[in-house]
Amino acid sequence: MKREINGKAKIIGIIGKNTENSLSPLIHNQIILKYSLNFCYLPFKVTENDLSQAIQGIRALSIKGVNVTFPYKEKVIEFLDEVEESARRIGAVNTIVNNKGILTGYNTDVIGFKKSLQEDGKFVIKEKKAVILGAGGAARAVVYALLEEEIEEICIFNRTLEKAKKIKQNLSSFFPKSRIIVFPLEGEDLKDKIEKAHLLVNATSLGMPPRVDNTPLPDEKLFHPNLLVYDLIYHPVRTLFLRQAERAGAKIINGLPMLVYQGIESFYLWTGLKPEGEEVLEIIKRSV
Ligand code: NAP
Repeated sequence: MKREINGKAKIIGIIGKNTENSLSPLIHNQIILKYSLNFCYLPFKVTENDLSQAIQGIRALSIKGVNVTFPYKEKVIEFLDEVEESARRIGAVNTIVNNKGILTGYNTDVIGFKKSLQEDGKFVIKEKKAVILGAGGAARAVVYALLEEEIEEICIFNRTLEKAKKIKQNLSSFFPKSRIIVFPLEGEDLKDKIEKAHLLVNATSLGMPPRVDNTPLPDEKLFHPNLLVYDLIYHPVRTLFLRQAERAGAKIINGLPMLVYQGIESFYLWTGLKPEGEEVLEIIKRSV
């Protein structure tokens, strides 16, 4: 493995409010190293006021592309030249590609979630029932991925009901085979819907540091062994939510495979190279 950065090096990276704890630089620089590419992946910490200028900077500095992370996945859209169809429907972009000054937005979280569910969770989505906790940017990608694979029913529970309603309003007409139902997070329906579900996803930020004792599902009795329980959080590796699910006999999966697979898709958009997902995941698991 040889790392060569010379005058022809191409720059890729990530923009977000806080990029210090992002695993994306590790993932992408490991791939760059593995393939001895003349690329470098850098973190760019950007304040909300500077977002427009930062996007202009991608063009000005001929940066090949960037990932976009919290909290700019939605806001960034207004500064782009083009947005790929699924990203436009979802209303969130996590990858920008710079093609000769034309900036196009994509959402690779969709494929990242889908692939992790199918390959790591061995889950067949078609005609299943899912409960999604949360209705932010990540939840939208999750819902879109499930709808694309013709899930039978998705129940979205969110603290702010309006945001769940918006997801339903934006997406249901594109996927008439699936049913989307929305509920407030604190409600009686949660028990009934989890009982009937095959898949339960935490797409809220509850359980992330510093509040690692937090969980979106305070009643641990609601978990059952027929569930695949998925937490989009990857740090900590096993949230309280996942530990409780595991104790109840459910199969569990954390957010690391999704992060790696979405990263690989972004990498492909920038370089045309697609590394083996499992291999990269193993490298990252060893490094984390
Ligand atoms: P977001 O847009 O800010 O959404 C946050 C969600 O959490 C909303 O549904 C919000 O509810 C809910 N929430 C926050 N605090 C809450 C509280 N105290 N009580 C109840 N609900 C609360 O964030 P996001 O981008 O969707 O990210 C959500 C999670 O997914 C984060 O943990 C993030 O790290 C993870 N993620 C993982 C990956 C991956 O590749 N593994 C990719 C993307 C995101 P309201 O709508 O009521 O505010």
